[in-house]
Amino acid sequence: MGYEGPSRCILCKAQSKTVDHLLLTCPFASKCWRCFCAKLELILVLPNDIKLLFQSWPLHTKESLLSQIMEIAPSCLIWEIWKERNRRLFESKARNQKSILNSIESATVDSINSISSFALNQSKVFTSWDRKISQNWQGIIIPSLSRHNTISRKGAIWSPPKPDWVKLNFDGASKGNPGPSGIGYVIKDQLGAIIGKMAKPIPPDTNNIAEFTALLLGLKDYINHGIKNIIVEGDSEIAINAIRKKATPNWRLQALLEGILEILNSLDLFEAKHIYREANTEADALSKVAALGASIHWWSQGS
Ligand SMILES: [Zn+2]
Repeated sequence: MGYEGPSRCILCKAQSKTVDHLLLTCPFASKCWRCFCAKLELILVLPNDIKLLFQSWPLHTKESLLSQIMEIAPSCLIWEIWKERNRRLFESKARNQKSILNSIESATVDSINSISSFALNQSKVFTSWDRKISQNWQGIIIPSLSRHNTISRKGAIWSPPKPDWVKLNFDGASKGNPGPSGIGYVIKDQLGAIIGKMAKPIPPDTNNIAEFTALLLGLKDYINHGIKNIIVEGDSEIAINAIRKKATPNWRLQALLEGILEILNSLDLFEAKHIYREANTEADALSKVAALGASIHWWSQGS
């Protein structure tokens, strides 16, 4: 991890310089993780290394509610701890553990609600176990019970690609813009199952550079695995407009754009779509943890 903190942890005052302490082994952080696991009725031995955590993090059956929570929540949790660290360090303000836990829960629930109506609509996989877990999480919308009033503005909810297509959602984050940066993307099939995903820190730069880099690296990953037709989707208007030749970005972005177009133009079919940030939460969360120094690269077997 690239982060060098103060010699004392701002959350527990212990001597520590590492990001693994801050996000995982710090008593403050580990209490967050324990409370979170308790809500999932999950007994988990936490590793003391954030990279190992992502490698060993359990993922369950593809479309269940639990799997949605398990996918998203670690990033939400890490992000809330990081925000609290910054609040204490730069604003000399502190929130108590209970309010942090509430924020983690509501950030997770918001993320789940924005992507899950599709997955949960496949109610065959909405198990009694899921139903039980959802009672521990205030605010989760269960579409089978409220299908008619969960429609929100177009482009604010993630939707799956057509059969024989995959969808790549990408995002970039820069803390400070310019500042420490990271990219994130996730590639899913028509059932909403994840085929591949990545979080990767990149050298400090701007949000736009991070966005274009995320798309380029996602496309390279996709090409390496030789899969079906692709829809690329992001909340970066400038990136999507540049692909559609509706905007001319600056020369640094142009260099990345050329790489993106080279790949896209080599394909038989592709689409580029702009969506709202609420529908891009997974890529958003991945890019944010990457900007903190975390690396994740995962590809499903058999693809
Ligand atoms: Zn600490």
